[in-house]
Amino acid sequence: MSLSLSNHPNLPSYLNPADLGPWATFLEQVDRVLPHLGKLSVWADTLRRPKRSLIVDVPIHMDDGTVRHFEGYRVQHNVSRGPGKGGVRYHPGVTLSEVMALAGWMTVKNAAVNLPYGGAKGGIRVDPKQLSMSELERLTRRYTSEIGLIIGPERDIPAPDVNTNERIMAWMMDTYSMNVGATSTGVVTGKPITLGGSLGRRDATGRGCFVVAREAMQRLGMEMKGARVAVQGFGNVGNAAARVFQENGASIVAIQDVAGSIYKADGIDPHALTAFLARREGTLLDFPGVERISNDKFWDVDCEVMLPAALENQITADNAGRIRAKLVVEGANGPTTPQAEDILLARGAIVLPDVLANAGGVTVSYFEWVQNASSFFWTEADINARLDRALSDAFRAIWDLSQERKLALRTAAFVIACTRVLEARELRGLYP
Ligand code: GLU
Repeated sequence: MSLSLSNHPNLPSYLNPADLGPWATFLEQVDRVLPHLGKLSVWADTLRRPKRSLIVDVPIHMDDGTVRHFEGYRVQHNVSRGPGKGGVRYHPGVTLSEVMALAGWMTVKNAAVNLPYGGAKGGIRVDPKQLSMSELERLTRRYTSEIGLIIGPERDIPAPDVNTNERIMAWMMDTYSMNVGATSTGVVTGKPITLGGSLGRRDATGRGCFVVAREAMQRLGMEMKGARVAVQGFGNVGNAAARVFQENGASIVAIQDVAGSIYKADGIDPHALTAFLARREGTLLDFPGVERISNDKFWDVDCEVMLPAALENQITADNAGRIRAKLVVEGANGPTTPQAEDILLARGAIVLPDVLANAGGVTVSYFEWVQNASSFFWTEADINARLDRALSDAFRAIWDLSQERKLALRTAAFVIACTRVLEARELRGLYP
């Protein structure tokens, strides 16, 4: 990586300069947007340095009586436009660099959709599948207490991300509430409906992927009916996206998850697959009527839409040249490396960037937080209609700017978002 402390004197010194990890991707994306920000670019280091990075030690009693320590993080990348906002990830690969990059993308995502938030992210370096339910609860509660120093409904609002869910949000909400002595529903979003969660939140990220893809396809003259879609990841995002695409006439021809990859030329029914996986009769590979393909072959599948909805760095310089889709919809955060994006764009593909394509989740999180603040709850139809409008409007602004200035959609999204963030930064001024 060309970035180092010597050519970037303002890199946070607490990262290993020899291996900046995902933060290097974020910095590269920031560098690409700076020439388009005019005078506001004097504030660039606001984007290059997170506002706050908290590292916590999370000790818990294991069921066998031993004590184990886990490393947890909460990074508030920016709070210029409002409280920090972003999910919490449980994964053995979580690092400070990764959480910083994910927090940075939340800043850009929230501003791109014009939600009144900064950007934040949290995580614990843990493989949750190795923990019992009660160990997972103790881990979640202790982590919440540790980051309780900086979270709160007006400070920073966590939510689900990879391997975290409604159950975990309920424990977080309860722990924070116990510590402050009053039930505080607005401290996290993505809660169960009974505890102040919002209708439509569970499917919101996947639904949002569909909405922005629909808008792009309309402008590109692509038909939704019969469009072939390949989905990587069948978790919260990939699953909902596959269902909504199918309900609107598209055909899900390939799916990849941790178990492997499957293909079916005339379409896999995502509803039936979800029901099959829920019955625990086998993995994705055991689903009847599909062909098993290698994970490598997945990238060669003939399709119009490729939807990476798993983790970072999945589309790289190694496989980007093989992807046949006209449209890549980033359901995951950071699935495409900058080099891979250059390859895709050079052959005329369109990449709908994560900061727009997966913004549906945090948009309905915002609706949840607003409903919590007023203790007045909306219907699912109302939420879905508002989500559609918010993302279609954000898409239009980004698309129009990209056409007008001949920019990649990601750069256009970053221009709009970073302008909002840095204008807020400038107007607030420096204290003292
Ligand atoms: N984890 C999701 C994301 O990356 C949702 C964040 C939220 O709802 O705050 O956008």
